[in-house]
Amino acid sequence: MSDTLPPCPECSSAFTYQLDALFSCPECGHEWTGAVSTAEPVRDAVGNILSDGDTVTVIRDLKVKGSSQVVKVGTKVRGIRLVGGDHDIDCKVPGIGQMGLKSQFVKKVTG
Ligand SMILES: [Zn+2]
Repeated sequence: MSDTLPPCPECSSAFTYQLDALFSCPECGHEWTGAVSTAEPVRDAVGNILSDGDTVTVIRDLKVKGSSQVVKVGTKVRGIRLVGGDHDIDCKVPGIGQMGLKSQFVKKVTG
């Protein structure tokens, strides 16, 4: 047992233990994989770590696939959702609608 194990995501118990790739909590019985905490975080164009609900700005004009619309540089997008894959951000762009963005073409808005 080591104190580097993550606390239980269900009850925050620190008395978790690891069985191969599976973490287990003796207090509430919750079991989970460590995949979430060990996965590479999604980063924006300048290396900020992005998370669900963040607000970002687009750092270059982006053509919208299958249309003549363009997401203009500087467009502010609220409430992003990280989905993984090629276009790893799912979001609703003002004036355009729901679409996928690539994290390397956005910059996190902080504060
Ligand atoms: Zn627990």
